[in-house]
Amino acid sequence: MKTFTELNLIEPLQRAIAGENYKIPTPIQSKTIPVALKRRDVLGCAQTGTGKTAAFALPILNRLGLQNRAAKAKRPFALILAPTRELAVQIGASVATYGKHLKLRHALVYGGVSQTSQVRSLQRGVHIVIATPGRLLDLMNQGFIQLDKLEVFVLDEADRMLDMGFMPDIKRIIRELPAKRQSLFFSATMAPAIVEITDKLLVDPVKVDVTPKTRSVKKIKQQVIFVSRKGKTELLEKILSSRDDLRAIVFTKTKRSANFVAERLNKAGLKAAAIHGNKSQNARQRALDAFRNQFVKILVATDVAARGIDIEGVTHVVNFDLPMEPEAYVHRIGRTGRAGAKGIAISFCSAGDQGDLKAIEKLIDHEIPVNQELSVTLPSPGPKPTRGRAGRKPSGGGRSRTSQAGRSRKGAGSRGSGDESVGSEKGKRTTKRRRRRVRTEKASAVKSARTGDGSQKKSGKKTGGGKGASGRSGSGAGGEATETSSKRRRPQRKGKNARNRDNASRSE
Ligand code: AMP
Repeated sequence: MKTFTELNLIEPLQRAIAGENYKIPTPIQSKTIPVALKRRDVLGCAQTGTGKTAAFALPILNRLGLQNRAAKAKRPFALILAPTRELAVQIGASVATYGKHLKLRHALVYGGVSQTSQVRSLQRGVHIVIATPGRLLDLMNQGFIQLDKLEVFVLDEADRMLDMGFMPDIKRIIRELPAKRQSLFFSATMAPAIVEITDKLLVDPVKVDVTPKTRSVKKIKQQVIFVSRKGKTELLEKILSSRDDLRAIVFTKTKRSANFVAERLNKAGLKAAAIHGNKSQNARQRALDAFRNQFVKILVATDVAARGIDIEGVTHVVNFDLPMEPEAYVHRIGRTGRAGAKGIAISFCSAGDQGDLKAIEKLIDHEIPVNQELSVTLPSPGPKPTRGRAGRKPSGGGRSRTSQAGRSRKGAGSRGSGDESVGSEKGKRTTKRRRRRVRTEKASAVKSARTGDGSQKKSGKKTGGGKGASGRSGSGAGGEATETSSKRRRPQRKGKNARNRDNASRSE
């Protein structure tokens, strides 16, 4: 497929695409659009940044544009499910852009904000709903949305849904779909739980796989810098102040370090905003807008908060902390080098992170080049404690690339020495403590994502509102009742931690 005109899309869509200056369909688009237009189910293996939004949005708009029907109250014709609000907002923006010459209405349905305007849109009638699972179920249970007229169902970023614990919700939603429908399914990876869902969802799907073998985007220049944990902030400031035209996303493991890093950068005169699960939806959107509009040049983010962010012109991705899940590395670096542009991905690696680095390199199937100039000598890693993750072996002592790289550069007295001795008992304890803290924060981010997303199971239980979503549906104003009861609980929490917990449950 050479050009968009060969895709046989209706004229208003061709015009919108031309307006976006898209000339050639990306591989996922040229493989998906023709079969989706023939109403076949699609199983797409593709990550963000490949152009997959248009791959599913254009066939939906084409179908609904041809039908030219009025929208029905509470009964959409197409449903797109996304794991996060940010991604839902982005998909909504793409649907608006591609469908700007069509008379089709869409609504966004996600948690963490009042449901009033969403309910109003649904009652007025929309052709397309773009939703996150928790709030969608909530509104379904309250009778504000029915899926019996649904013709097209899209499940986007299924692997992220799985990571965030949304699979039970997804299965519940799938049970409500009419048997006769078209389903389009996208995931960057195909874990067994994902395959199980595809078997339930898809009928004789066309398989489309555009995942590069190396699993990372070719245009992105990757490098690793060995640095002591204490030296990271100084190094970050140095890198980020090196270019005026720089626009960077810095990834940290925890919300706390996202705040800390953003604060340090601002103190150093580098304008940065933090985005993570403890921030309210509005604060997150403000930070994203500030970054998008270039009021701040640096966005410091955690993985959960950054999922699906699509901002053009990101020149650098810096992994201040390496991700614990190697897959997340590919997602992170894909934030730069969007739509074929060039990008730089820099990863900081401290002594305790070597195992994570090895896992990433195994996944992407090549060694990330070392920035010799900026790297320091790290203490040689001793035998590491066995890790709980499948397929990972404890790394052997002294033979790692870190120590080789270190030997070829600077002496033991450099910046890296002293503060991290992984082989020592103290080092092991510190590493274990840190991993435990990260796990706890990750779990709470996922929990808060589900809670804030409208899946208010916890509050339902605490307030005696019944068990799970079905319990809420008992009262016609389940959402309102839960909001009121969560307000009632709030004054009882006086401590700082309690306040943070409260914020978290209202945010992601
Ligand atoms: P996505 O993977 O859908 O998040 O898309 C990534 C980026 O690529 C978005 O900024 C799109 O606007 C852009 N894009 C999508 N399709 C094309 C295309 N055919 N040509 C140029 N840019 C595109």
